[in-house]
Amino acid sequence: MGYNVAIDGPAGAGKSTIAKLVAKEKGYIYVDTGAMYRGLAIHFLKKGIDPENKEAVAKACQDAEVTIGYENGIQQIYLNGENVTEMLRTEEVGNMASKTSAIPEVREKLLDLQRSLAREKDVIMDGRDIGTNILPDADVKIYLTASVETRAERRYKELKEKGEKCDLAEISRDIRERDERDMTREIAPLKKAEDAVLVDSSDMTIKEVVDEICRHCR
Ligand code: C5P
Repeated sequence: MGYNVAIDGPAGAGKSTIAKLVAKEKGYIYVDTGAMYRGLAIHFLKKGIDPENKEAVAKACQDAEVTIGYENGIQQIYLNGENVTEMLRTEEVGNMASKTSAIPEVREKLLDLQRSLAREKDVIMDGRDIGTNILPDADVKIYLTASVETRAERRYKELKEKGEKCDLAEISRDIRERDERDMTREIAPLKKAEDAVLVDSSDMTIKEVVDEICRHCR
């Protein structure tokens, strides 16, 4: 069994930024489970599947294989053998992932992949249900959150820096909707595990958050 750190929280809380830095400092492998849901979402988009059509989504899972690899320490996502990493981080893919991740067959598809990685390696794994469902016996559990306003502003800045057209009110609305979906779905909803450490990063610097999490880790 590897040493396992679970880091859960809502969209835009900074999980991936923080988890990557903790991984570097502690020598863990960073596993981004959201990217796996996004990988499957690309499959559904390619097939033109309506995310509200649960049966069609469940059926489409049968001919999708998501695997991961590492190139220079950076996680790569393969969909049926094709490296789709560069395509994962668009709003379209994120929305498809958010909607389809509530469907049991989608979660089932990724469960073994996530658990087997944690069995074999020392990992810091980020997602929504890692501490509550995927790795209930994780050595350290962190619930990382921030206010909707902070998360929206961070996302807005990130998109602006990339030169993408964006609207703060629209981003806020999107975040609220995504929170609502992630927190109220029937299967594996986003919630803080009872034994997770709560970290609210709204008024913290990246370094402060990383230091706080590292303090809890071996
Ligand atoms: O974290 P990220 O935004 O990349 O995740 C994309 C979507 O995948 C989320 O909106 C969430 O609905 C879903 N997800 C999930 N469980 C995880 C990781 C992500 O349901 N462990």
